[in-house]
Amino acid sequence: MNYDKPVVSGFPSAMSETRSNWWEQPNRVLLINLREGDEPKVDARELARFVLDFGATAFCINGGGIVAFYQTRIPGQRISNGLGARDLLAEVIPVAHENGLRVLARIDPSCAPRQLAADHPEWFARDRSGGLCEVSGHYVTCPNAGYYHERMVEVVREILMRYGADGIWNNQGKFAAWDTAACYCDTCERSFRAESGHAIPPAENWQDPLWRQYNEWRYLCIAAWVRRMNEAVHAVKRDGIFIAAVQLMESLETIRPGGWDIDYWLSDQDVPTFECQRRNTAPWWPGIQAKYLATLAPDKPRWMTVSYFYPWWRLYAAPEAENRPWIAQQFANGVNSWLHINGGYADLFDRRGLAPMREVFQRLKRWEPYFAGARSEAQVALVFSRHTQDNYGGDEPHARYLDFIRGWYCALQEAHIPFDVLSDKLLASERFARYRAVIVSNLACVSDETAASLEQYVAQGGGLVASFEAGWCNVDGVTRDGPAFARLFGGVYGARRDNLKSSYAKIERRDDPVLAGIGDTDLLPNDGALREFRPESGRHVPLTLIPPVIAHSGATISIPELSAIGATTDVPVAVRGEFGRGRVVYFANQMEALFYHYGFGDLGRVLANAVRYVRGGVAEVEIDAPDFLDVTLMGQDRRRLVHLVNLPVDKPLSTGWRHPGRNLVEVRGIEVRLRPRVGERVREVRLATTEQVLTHTLNDGWIAVTVPRLADHEIVIFEFE
Ligand SMILES: [Zn+2]
Repeated sequence: MNYDKPVVSGFPSAMSETRSNWWEQPNRVLLINLREGDEPKVDARELARFVLDFGATAFCINGGGIVAFYQTRIPGQRISNGLGARDLLAEVIPVAHENGLRVLARIDPSCAPRQLAADHPEWFARDRSGGLCEVSGHYVTCPNAGYYHERMVEVVREILMRYGADGIWNNQGKFAAWDTAACYCDTCERSFRAESGHAIPPAENWQDPLWRQYNEWRYLCIAAWVRRMNEAVHAVKRDGIFIAAVQLMESLETIRPGGWDIDYWLSDQDVPTFECQRRNTAPWWPGIQAKYLATLAPDKPRWMTVSYFYPWWRLYAAPEAENRPWIAQQFANGVNSWLHINGGYADLFDRRGLAPMREVFQRLKRWEPYFAGARSEAQVALVFSRHTQDNYGGDEPHARYLDFIRGWYCALQEAHIPFDVLSDKLLASERFARYRAVIVSNLACVSDETAASLEQYVAQGGGLVASFEAGWCNVDGVTRDGPAFARLFGGVYGARRDNLKSSYAKIERRDDPVLAGIGDTDLLPNDGALREFRPESGRHVPLTLIPPVIAHSGATISIPELSAIGATTDVPVAVRGEFGRGRVVYFANQMEALFYHYGFGDLGRVLANAVRYVRGGVAEVEIDAPDFLDVTLMGQDRRRLVHLVNLPVDKPLSTGWRHPGRNLVEVRGIEVRLRPRVGERVREVRLATTEQVLTHTLNDGWIAVTVPRLADHEIVIFEFE
C-alpha cells in the first residue's frame, strides 16, 4: 500500500509550533456520529461552523472500520453506501484545520463484512460450536486476531497519513461486541492455553479459579491490542493520539465480558478517556469516572463522553436538567467533555437540547483558565477495586460490591465532603500519603502488599474506614485464613449472620463521634448480612445488633402487637479505635450498601461521621446547602476553586430504570467556608459565572462567603496573595 501521497495536508504549521501538544490544552470536543445515508448532507464549512458555535476545539467524525466514510484503498474495507464519489475526510479535515479545529477519526473494529470470512476465516469470533456471530449483516471480529491487529493498523495508517487526521477514537474494541457471546476461536484457544495450560472454560462460573483467570486474560488481551494501536498511531504521527473507549462499573454487562480495564492500558493512552453515555445509571456516574481518571493519570489530560441524546434513543435529546450536571461533574473533577451527537443529519431529530448545550460549552470555554492544570485537593479517598468487583462480586457484583461503592459515593456527596476515587491497583503508600482518610469499604480482594501499606499508612497517622468482608480474599478471589485487616480493626472474627431484614442497630453511646447529630433515637434500621466481631480492649462499639423482629423465621414482616424488641446483643455493628497514630472505623455490617439501597439519611450520616472521625481535625471546606449539591475542591497556583454542581431532584436511584433528571431546583444563599493553609492570605473571592466579587469574612480560621444563587454549575474562586 502506498501511503506516501497525502490527500490533505496536516494542521497549519504555525499552530503546531505551540510548546505542548494540542491535546494537552483544555479541550471541548464534539463527537459527530454519522449514519450511512448522512453523507450527502455533510457540508464541511457548515460542520466547522456548527462546531465553532459550541466553542469546541475539536471534533470526531466517522473514519473507518465497519464501513469507511472516505475513499479507502484497503481491499475489503467497505465504502459507505451514501458516499458516492465524495471523500468526506478529504473535504472535512482541511476546512476544520483552517478554522483552528482538530479532527479525530472514529474507527470500529468490532465487526466486518461477511464476505471477508471467505479469505480470512481466522479474523472472526467463534461461538462455542465454531459458528460465526452475525450482527446487522456483518460478522463479529476477534480482538486477538488479524482484523484487529493488522487490518485496523492499516486503516489508521491510511486515515492519518492520507488525510492528516489528528487522532483516532476507537469504538467497541472488545470481546463479545454488541452483546454477542464469548469468543472460542482458534487464536483465542491457543493464546489462553499458552497462558493457563487449559481450554477456555465453557461457561461463566465465578467459583472456578480457571474462569477468574480467563476473565483476567480478557482484560490483558484488550490492553495488548490498545498498545498495538497506540504504537501504530505514534509510528506515523508524532502528535497523533489513539483513544480507546472504556467505562467503569455502571455498565458492567458490557465492560466485563468485553475485557475493559483502563488500568491495564493507561501507559498506552495520551488522553485517558471514559465513555459516559447511558443514563439508567447513578446520576453521579460522570463524577466517579472523572475522579477515578484524575487519580489514575494525574499528569495527563483526561476526557469523557456525554451523549446529547437519551440512550438508547439516539435521536431523542436528554433533558437539559439531566445533561447540564452530567457535563458539570466532569469539569468539576478535572475532565474535559466530548458531546456525542448522533443523527444530527436525520430528517426526524430532537433539536431542543442544542441551544442549552451550546451555552454550556461556551461557558466552559470562558472558564478555560479555571481548568488549566487544576488538581483535586480532596483529603479523602474512596478505593475502587475491579478485582473485588469480579473475583469477590462474581455473579452478584452489584449486591456484593458495587452497591457498597455507590453507597459511599452518595454519603460523601450528600455530606459535601470532597473526595477522590483511587484504583486498588495503585495503593502503594505514596499514592495515599496525601490523604487524611482512605475508605476501603468492602474491599474483599486485597494483596498482602496493599494490606501492609494501608496498615503502615494508618500507623503513621492516616484514617481508614472499612466494612463487612474487607480483606477476606487475595486479589484472585481465594479466601484467606483470616482477613488481611484483622490487626488494623483490632479484634477476632466470628460467624457470618445473614438474612437480617427487620433487624436494627442499637445506639450504645449517643455522644460517640460516629453518631454525631443523630438526635433522639435509640436505634437505626439494619438489614443484609454481618460479620460477628469481638473487639479487643480499647476499641469503642457505638452500635450493636438487635436481631430481626419478625413473625417467624423467614418472614419479612412482624405482627404490630408483637413487634417489641425481645433481645439485644453485644455483637458490634460498628467498631472504632486507634491504630498507631491513626484511626480506624470498621462497620461489621453492610452499612454503605444499605444506605444506597434504602436511602435512610441516618445511615449516610453515620458513614460521613466515620470519615470525619478517622480524618480528625477540621475539614478543608464546608458548605451549608441541601444534600443534592455536589462539591469538589480543586487547586491551581495561588488559587482554590470550589465547584458547586446542582444535581437534579427527581428519583435519582431506582432498582430498574433511573428517571432522567427533570428538575434543577435553584439554591439560594449557599455559605461556603474554606480553610486557608498556614501563612496564606486571601486576596479575593469571586464567582466564575459573573466574575462578581463576593464579600468574605475571616472567622475562626475560616474564609466564609455566601453564594447568592446556584442554577446548575458555579465555581467559587478563592484567590490568594
Ligand atoms: Zn477469538
